[in-house]
Amino acid sequence: MPAANKSALFQKLPSTDELLHDPQIHGLVESDGHAPVTESIRVVLARLREEISADQLDEKSLPIALGGLSAAVERQLRQSLRYSLRPLINATGVILHTNLGRAPLAASAFDHIRGTASGYSNLEFDLKTGERGKRDVHVDRLFQRLLGSDCAGSVISTIVVNNNAAAVLLALNSLAEGGEVIVSRGELVEIGGSFRIPDVMSKSNTTLREVGTTNRTRVADYENAINDRTRLLLRVHRSNFEITGFTEQPSVAELVALAQRRKLPLIEDLGSGALIDLRSVGINGEPGVLDSLQAGVDIVTYSGDKLLGGPQAGLISGRADLVARMRSNPLFRALRVDKLTYAALETTLIAYVKHDHDAVPVLRMMRLAKNEITRRAEAVLSHVESSQTSQQLKLELLDGESVVGGGAAPSAVLPTTLIALIHSGVGANELSARLRAGTPPIAARVEEGHILLDLRTVFPEQDDILSAALASLTGN
Ligand SMILES: *Cc1c(COP(=O)(O)O)cnc(C)c1O
Repeated sequence: MPAANKSALFQKLPSTDELLHDPQIHGLVESDGHAPVTESIRVVLARLREEISADQLDEKSLPIALGGLSAAVERQLRQSLRYSLRPLINATGVILHTNLGRAPLAASAFDHIRGTASGYSNLEFDLKTGERGKRDVHVDRLFQRLLGSDCAGSVISTIVVNNNAAAVLLALNSLAEGGEVIVSRGELVEIGGSFRIPDVMSKSNTTLREVGTTNRTRVADYENAINDRTRLLLRVHRSNFEITGFTEQPSVAELVALAQRRKLPLIEDLGSGALIDLRSVGINGEPGVLDSLQAGVDIVTYSGDKLLGGPQAGLISGRADLVARMRSNPLFRALRVDKLTYAALETTLIAYVKHDHDAVPVLRMMRLAKNEITRRAEAVLSHVESSQTSQQLKLELLDGESVVGGGAAPSAVLPTTLIALIHSGVGANELSARLRAGTPPIAARVEEGHILLDLRTVFPEQDDILSAALASLTGN
């Protein structure tokens, strides 16, 4: 297009000021504020200028674009103000999915968060004396009821930090700074790419003393490595992998006996840290917090948002004298958590005190029976088949397995019924992209070219939304 024609088109574009006086856009200013609306107008006008320059708009098409200008500004505004962090439906069947936010919180947690965090609270205020209090008291009292205030002869207390990585960092730095920590080579784990035991140890200013081999470590290996620089023994739960075959690992009891004989603390990084016996839901070999403390481990660290089912947090439970040293470490101040976390944790722990395990979503999901999942899957299937206009999408029910995930019980699986999607028009990757693009987005499993949905991690009240989203997956 000749330059003169283009400049005539440019002149037809309204100014930002003119648009701000358009009644529809003026309404947006009232509801959403002047600054974001002005910004959206600039973006939309810049896009039009680019399209004119690239000859994508001419005398004919420009008036049509201008006719839709206020709608375009509104779309741009909505998009720019939309939350980036959004809820989604987890149909992967992975109960603790780190990328999907790990444990969903109990509904009652939000009442408590709203009640205490939208105003002032007694977070660090002792209501009896009117003096300054400690934020730990709100949950320490509950942990004492769940873990016992006295375990293997010592008083037990618990403090809360930002996550389990912070808990390990604080424990090592408080109890072993400048000295050596003995750990088995078979336990130098990496979790989720960013948490590596050796890296955390060097940041805690302790020296790692590796003993044994990847597959075999004996208690004598620990004993031989003890010297006058040794500050503690560390045991790390292999939470996201298993070593099978020719293996050997000292039992907790053996390590406890050695630690007591040599007067060294024994710390265990449990990772997930279950507060109930998971054998009741068919998960074996996942150590509980209480098991370790009763066996005589001095300090355990574990996550708040893995098997415990609460908010992101790192819990440190164990011998009160050792916990007190961590509390007085300046790092504790840097790693502490806020009132929202205390409120969510307190609600979660009260559910445990009441034995109301179904109030904790991850426990409820783990306890969900396969026949209940099958019943819901059949309902989804018949809903989708009856509301589909074309017959492009086929649903099939298959036997499968849900996984606990989140660095917990690496080999534990729960029997489930999967919904497999087969679309005659589009492939699995395109189908999964369409599911992710929905509102709300749906996260599914893609296995060997098939989309698989597991309702174990879908809340029952989301079944209808999921069915509707599946029914609309037709078309090419
Ligand atoms: C998950 C895990 C961690 C990290 O916990 P975060 O709460 O994610 O910081 C550390 N150690 C072990 C063994 C774990 O499983």
